[in-house]
Amino acid sequence: MRKSLVAGNWKMNMTVAETVAYFAAGQLDLPAEYAKVDVAIIPPFTALAAARLECEKRGLLLGAQNCHPQPSGAFTGEISADFLKELGCSHVLCGHSERRALFQEGEVFVAEKVRRALDAGLQPIVCIGETLEERQAGHTERKLDKQLTPVLKLIKRDEVRKLVVAYEPVWAIGTGLNADPMDVEIEFVNLRDLVGHHGVASIDVRMLYGGSVSAENAAAFAARPSIDGVLVGGASLKPDVFRAIVDAFARAKK
Ligand code: PEP
Repeated sequence: MRKSLVAGNWKMNMTVAETVAYFAAGQLDLPAEYAKVDVAIIPPFTALAAARLECEKRGLLLGAQNCHPQPSGAFTGEISADFLKELGCSHVLCGHSERRALFQEGEVFVAEKVRRALDAGLQPIVCIGETLEERQAGHTERKLDKQLTPVLKLIKRDEVRKLVVAYEPVWAIGTGLNADPMDVEIEFVNLRDLVGHHGVASIDVRMLYGGSVSAENAAAFAARPSIDGVLVGGASLKPDVFRAIVDAFARAKK
């Protein structure tokens, strides 16, 4: 049985002081029965230490937004997966669409990050998704295959339980236009097929949706049995809104 994961990607937002204030609002002091849903906060690197203290007090998970494929070395400005593990992270985003588009991260480079994250004992959240042009041209599956296949080639069978795939259509990120939950389920069937072709038990891979998830639409995603959670950007910056999204998953997974 896959446990749901609701993860808030703060992107390049939130100072240390704002991080402390976010938790002080009390919205993420979750009742014990919410333990059936994993909740992760993914702050910028500079707020990881502060967020760690707050997350540990509340039984929340901590993630980072990126890591480098190498464990250490002459990579000025980069962060190693081992450093993130030492800071208390359990998860790390790999290949978020903003990194792929703005920092020219290619499929193989992203796959190497995933490999490194697993070696460091982290659970990679691999972000994949098509652009609007690709969707309109009917190339969604081809694109997802192109992004996920290099990752699957570097994963061992027994590591699949640690892999999280976040399907985030690029056209839905930060636009207010979310994908239809039923379309997401169809994409997930295709993705599980793809994973299965690599000899991996696709049933064990957690699959999240991301792209303009809000307090209003979260319940519709939570209601779909194959959607194992959400990766939330903008809406995770307000603790009450993020809490409403967590509530939707906690209610649906009773
Ligand atoms: C994201 O950045 O991963 C994301 C899903 O952003 P938003 O929720 O703001 O669309």
